[in-house]
Amino acid sequence: MAELIKENDMLSDLIKKQDLYKAAKNNKISDQDTQRFIDSIFSNYFLDNDNINFLVKNGYNFFSFSDEEFCFCLSGIAFENCCKANMNKEKSKSYVPFIKAIINNEQYNEYLQFSLKLFETTYSNLGESEKCNFLDCSNKSVENRLYNIDFESTKYLSSNRKNIFDNNYKMGQNFFEEVNNDQFKYFGFCEEHYNQIIDIPMTKQSSDEDIILFNFPAVVNKLFLARVQLEALKTEFREYFNSIEEEAVKTIFIYNIKKVSNHVSSLLNTYSFFIEILKGGSNRYGIAKFNLPKTNNFRIKDVFQPQITPDDFKVVNSINNLFLSENFATIVMYGDRTNSFITMVYDKKNENLKDFFNQYLKMVQAKTKSEAAFISNCSLILADNILFDKEWFDNLTEQDILLYSALNKFRFQHPNMGQEYLKMKFFAGFNKGNNFF
Ligand SMILES: [Zn+2]
Ligand SMILES: [Zn+2]
Repeated sequence: MAELIKENDMLSDLIKKQDLYKAAKNNKISDQDTQRFIDSIFSNYFLDNDNINFLVKNGYNFFSFSDEEFCFCLSGIAFENCCKANMNKEKSKSYVPFIKAIINNEQYNEYLQFSLKLFETTYSNLGESEKCNFLDCSNKSVENRLYNIDFESTKYLSSNRKNIFDNNYKMGQNFFEEVNNDQFKYFGFCEEHYNQIIDIPMTKQSSDEDIILFNFPAVVNKLFLARVQLEALKTEFREYFNSIEEEAVKTIFIYNIKKVSNHVSSLLNTYSFFIEILKGGSNRYGIAKFNLPKTNNFRIKDVFQPQITPDDFKVVNSINNLFLSENFATIVMYGDRTNSFITMVYDKKNENLKDFFNQYLKMVQAKTKSEAAFISNCSLILADNILFDKEWFDNLTEQDILLYSALNKFRFQHPNMGQEYLKMKFFAGFNKGNNFF
């Protein structure tokens, strides 16, 4: 029994540790002017090299770990006593880091085998100890599927790949491939609660509680996979970091680790927000509901990351500032025989997220048909596991396929300013843009 109690506390313990990590004070900032300048850089959507250099000079370590900082792995202890103390001193001759592998096709295949094995081992280990995330349930979690779809009878395409480390996307390629349930597995709920949540029918009359519960698996799925990714990176760092020779490769490796660490911390915030509202008694949530004609063209069940508020251009998520928490909302589609019900759940206590919804919903309501375009664009551009019906997709022009590929994936890579600008421009004109209904 003792072990069961410990397992119950595992996630809340992790939440406390990431709070600690975030609250660590930066003591290198010299004066108020510097602080003001830093604040203004932090309100940028995209950091250019000058911004990053300035931040680095003032104590924001983008590319290195300092001994005293809380370890990226969210253990809650200092780096020097955690992952640094556990590094393998021997160098491996066969190890190829991601950054080097993407330049060389042959090495990329090797990297894929290496990372898939690392991903699968970490996934099973974490799954082994994962308990059900349903409130007050202490059963062990079983392996769940994100989508309740029979992929044998209806074929869908997605850019989502099973190995989370397989993310070498090149502009000008089609990223959408046929998928099956294997690609959307995670540990989140016990059998009973998984079946309960996946069967909640959505209607115009659905209660807030049902809607929140129906959206919850999108968060649990993302958090579980992000934790697997961070844990795997921790293993890779400890085992192989000393095998990397080039300074430039080391700094990018550290940057990527810090990015994933921030991703997990931020998802833990979203997770605790959902737990708080599911417990009841809190009205800090907002729900956006859309009732549209039925479509078979696409499906979505995911978290998404709004970029900028459309009216006053406040940043909701920065593309490359890993010291800014990521802000998520959920987007889930439910279809019955005649309708598609789309619901989004977000944290109203988060000012910029709240403003994003208020401003977009106002715009959307003012124009007919723009609801469909808004949902299409959120699903394609701001989320990452949209499913397209194969028959519908096969009728698209080559140009559309490449455009949708780029719009879907480049938000999560390291786009340059020009690519980002093109995409923002496209998204800003969403009412003339994509519509998958
Ligand atoms: Zn560590
Ligand atoms: Zn349960």
